Amino acid sequence: MSVISGDVAEVSSPRVTVRPSTAPEFPTVFGRELLGELSSFAHRPYLVVTMPDLWPSLEHFFDSNLAGVHMVSSLDLETLTAQVEGLPTFASVIGLGGGQAMDVAKYISWTRRTPLFQTPTAMTTNAPFSHRALLRTGGKAVALGWAVPEGVYVDFDVIRTAPGLLNRSGVCDVLCYHTAHYDWKLAHDMGKEERRWPYDEHLVAEARLRLDSVLANLDEIRAVSDEGIRTLMLAHRWGGTAFHNAGWNARHMDGVDHCYLYCLEYVTGKHFIHGQAVGLGMYVGAELQRNEPDLVLDALRRTGVDIRPEAMGITWDEAATAMRQLAWYVRFADLWYTVADARPVTDELVERIREKLYATFD
Ligand SMILES: [Zn+2]
Repeated sequence: MSVISGDVAEVSSPRVTVRPSTAPEFPTVFGRELLGELSSFAHRPYLVVTMPDLWPSLEHFFDSNLAGVHMVSSLDLETLTAQVEGLPTFASVIGLGGGQAMDVAKYISWTRRTPLFQTPTAMTTNAPFSHRALLRTGGKAVALGWAVPEGVYVDFDVIRTAPGLLNRSGVCDVLCYHTAHYDWKLAHDMGKEERRWPYDEHLVAEARLRLDSVLANLDEIRAVSDEGIRTLMLAHRWGGTAFHNAGWNARHMDGVDHCYLYCLEYVTGKHFIHGQAVGLGMYVGAELQRNEPDLVLDALRRTGVDIRPEAMGITWDEAATAMRQLAWYVRFADLWYTVADARPVTDELVERIREKLYATFD
């Protein structure tokens, strides 16, 4: 199957040509002191969508053309709809923060039909670069709306002020292409692929290019250097629009890795740093797939993404329960076919995962 080292490839053959996307990615600008410029070009008056913990240190970048600030408190669609009704009049939306601020900014821009400017403050997910807002309704995730920002502004110095783990965990949303590719091919071979998403080796090869660019820069990403920020954010930029650009298909990006995250949320009732929990799911999935788990684990160790349950605020027993419940959960939640359907998580496997996990991150 596709191989994380890049040395060998049984599925994504190097001979497979990449068929370039026919739809654009979002305009993205890298630089310094970008936040202070927003008040000079965002349509006035503007609404800032951000988080309570960020605003006090960033408020001084905005001037008297600020119509208001929406502090993100909920991703629940019904709650958010009511909150948006209470907002003042404004002419543009500035998203300022991590994935949640980006998603809510998209939703508000969509419902009020105003221009959108996105300023991510961390590299956690590809939310700044995707069309739809990932919200919740009735306890389930829903990707809703349509928002193409005028620009996504990535300020190197702002990104570097985010907690290190938040930034570094962003690699997992790209590294997981490794396990996703195995799952898509497996579904194809088992006759279980979705009719609308037949296995496409060109798409897999295109995703592989982004995965390889991140793998080649893990040390820079760990250091959150300019080069590391550029590499990871450009991979996110591709991944963000790839869902739309592949015909609302994420098979080349998400697999058992994300299934495990959703199962872990269900089992524990808790929320996690997205990439960190996806990282654990990716390692569990690679073990189940017998798809170079040691290389997956080594990439996480090198990047400094600790995926031990304790590092994400849960116990080993909770993480292990989610592993044992995975096969049940994916049918309960009606997720697409992955290795979780094809192979049981045995006690031996859970024990091997535990031993290797604690030996790696000690
Ligand atoms: Zn993800």
